[in-house]
Amino acid sequence: MNIPSNTTETKAKKRFIAGAVCPACEAIDGIRMWEVDGVPHRDCVHCGYSDTLNADGNTVPNEIATRVNTSALQQPKKAQGQALQFFPNPKLKKEDK
Ligand SMILES: [Zn+2]
Repeated sequence: MNIPSNTTETKAKKRFIAGAVCPACEAIDGIRMWEVDGVPHRDCVHCGYSDTLNADGNTVPNEIATRVNTSALQQPKKAQGQALQFFPNPKLKKEDK
């Protein structure tokens, strides 16, 4: 029972991180974060990038870890009150009400 679920809802509640920038496609506010067994995971709803944070708080991409993409994640981003740059994907649109 080891089914990767990038698109379907899992037990873990995914939360969007305000102001977070995707390290892969650089889209803002596309990053979701959730925990599995106390381990934080992230993914991007725009390009499908995903990674995991290890005990040291370093990102561990689910693809190949390189010095370039890990160091690129070190830049802190200040969360802004409102993020207006958002491009909803009609295919992913849900009626939440
Ligand atoms: Zn992305």
